[in-house]
Amino acid sequence: MSNMLSILKYIKPYTTYVIFNVFSNILSILFSLFSLTMVIPFLGILFGTQEKVYQAQELNFTLLSIKENFYFLVSSTIEDKGKVEALMLICLLVLVMFLLKNLFRYIALYFLSPIRNGIIYDMRMELQEKIISLPLAYFTEQKKGDLTSRMTSDLVEIEWSIMGVIEMIFKDPINIFIFLITLIVISPELTLFVVILFPVAGILIGYIGKSLKSASKKGQSKMGEIMSLIDENIYGIKIIKSFNAEQDFNKKFKVISNDYKNIMTTILRKKDLASPMSEFLSTIVMVIVMWFGGQLVLSQDAALSAEEFIAYILIFSQIIPPAKSLTSSYYYIQKGSAASERVFEVLEAKNTITDDKNAVTINKIEEEIKFNIPFFKYENTQILNNILFSIKKGEKVALVGKSGSGKSTIADLLARFYDLENGQITIDKINIKKIKIISLRSLMGIVNQESILFNDTIFNNIKIGNINASENEVIEAARNANAHDFIVECEKGYQTNIGNLGEKLSGGQKQRISIARAILKNPEILILDEATSSLDSKSEKLVQDAILKLMKNRTTLVIAHRLSTIIDADKIIVLEKGNVIAMGKHNDLIEQNPHYKSLYDLQLLS
Ligand code: ADP
Repeated sequence: MSNMLSILKYIKPYTTYVIFNVFSNILSILFSLFSLTMVIPFLGILFGTQEKVYQAQELNFTLLSIKENFYFLVSSTIEDKGKVEALMLICLLVLVMFLLKNLFRYIALYFLSPIRNGIIYDMRMELQEKIISLPLAYFTEQKKGDLTSRMTSDLVEIEWSIMGVIEMIFKDPINIFIFLITLIVISPELTLFVVILFPVAGILIGYIGKSLKSASKKGQSKMGEIMSLIDENIYGIKIIKSFNAEQDFNKKFKVISNDYKNIMTTILRKKDLASPMSEFLSTIVMVIVMWFGGQLVLSQDAALSAEEFIAYILIFSQIIPPAKSLTSSYYYIQKGSAASERVFEVLEAKNTITDDKNAVTINKIEEEIKFNIPFFKYENTQILNNILFSIKKGEKVALVGKSGSGKSTIADLLARFYDLENGQITIDKINIKKIKIISLRSLMGIVNQESILFNDTIFNNIKIGNINASENEVIEAARNANAHDFIVECEKGYQTNIGNLGEKLSGGQKQRISIARAILKNPEILILDEATSSLDSKSEKLVQDAILKLMKNRTTLVIAHRLSTIIDADKIIVLEKGNVIAMGKHNDLIEQNPHYKSLYDLQLLS
């Protein structure tokens, strides 16, 4: 519930809409009430028992004055034009009031739509901005699907519960309150029963609500698991097929899907219990009211007239829908509360990689980048030990070593995708933690092993490198990356959508687009994670050539998988299980370091 209260803060910008919504609801309720009370004079005229008022009262907003003046109107119509005309008058009034009731109900809903959609929009945007700001360490494999489900199905739950909150706070209670007051005015004795019986029903319903919430939370997190699995299936479809692992994956999916099915069945059963239960409870109350009310009418002193009693029952029956809607709102809120807990978990996740208070901006590297990492751990496993080296401005430094030796980790630390707890990395003697993140990353161009392209045009994929670049600059970058020729051959040239191309782009072409992106950025520092997959020799040559152009005169950290790129590197650092085991130029290392020589001989630089 407390989470749902946090949602109230999202309602704040929509206060005006809420006011219009509440105001229209009140009008709708009043018109509904007035039309129901019309049954009293209607029956009065039919049975000839209509109270006669021959003196018009001064009109003001007291209940008595309205009633007396209305009765005066009815009485004078009967006198002047006859009973049939008076009935007609009442029928017309009922019609107009129902029309107004529904009109204002519609207006209330009209103002409700921008509230519910606006709040969800605000939350979705906040989630998006938060997710994109969170450090890489947050995005473990299991979390991906879970995050998707928090951004989609959890938000839908919240949308429903926002409706619940608004109706529960602003509509149903007002509705019940106004009707109850009318009932008290008609018969205080009878209303006493109603007031006593309602809370009993409330407690019963509350009990179910609680268990619904915990089941709902389980359901949502299972949904997250399902989404992760779907993601994984689609991502790995090639491997699944080639290893004939379809059955295994179906089995895995079946287990989770089955759990989800069972949880959802429980949830629906609990939720479905609400409606028949509250209907039965309200019937009990209704029967009691009929029993005691009937006695009041039949009693000697006729504490209640028959018409009033019928009006009472009519109005009372109108309390039941808002009371029922109050219970279903309560269920939606309980369900939404579980969902909002999950959404707030993300919104409140602590971003550990943020700007220091006194962070500075730097636009250039003047001297050197220095790594001093006594050790570095991901969670509990130590990955790097005693890493000490520097990259002078304009130098090309290569990291080599077997897969898992820690090369990518070093590059990730430089871009502050992860933070060091011990030691420091400095650029021109400034600890990178003291440099504004945006400034630090704008110094860097990163070309990954896997070319990461987005579902957008080739042009926009390159332009990510520099949003302000002109068309000519983009084309120039593509030329330098040896990508221009194949791009213009695509159906729509630079405006071809990468998504539409699907698998049509070869690995080498994708790499050249990512290289063009980095060339366009023209970064001070280049981090190059060379692709491991070998390309055909023509494509290889084009990519190599593009990479060489990109590295020229630039401070570069290369994670090397191919010797050709690094033979002329200023410094090669050989890593083994997170330790630097040798450092130097290619020729020296070949002569002096057997480990490097064996890597070289085996071309094992992956
Ligand atoms: P390389 O680039 O040399 O192949 P990495 O730097 O990618 O090596 O990985 C070094 C070690 O750190 C590996 O054992 C890898 O499993 C582990 N590792 C990499 N990233 C993470 C991570 N985000 N969380 C936990 N362990 C990781």
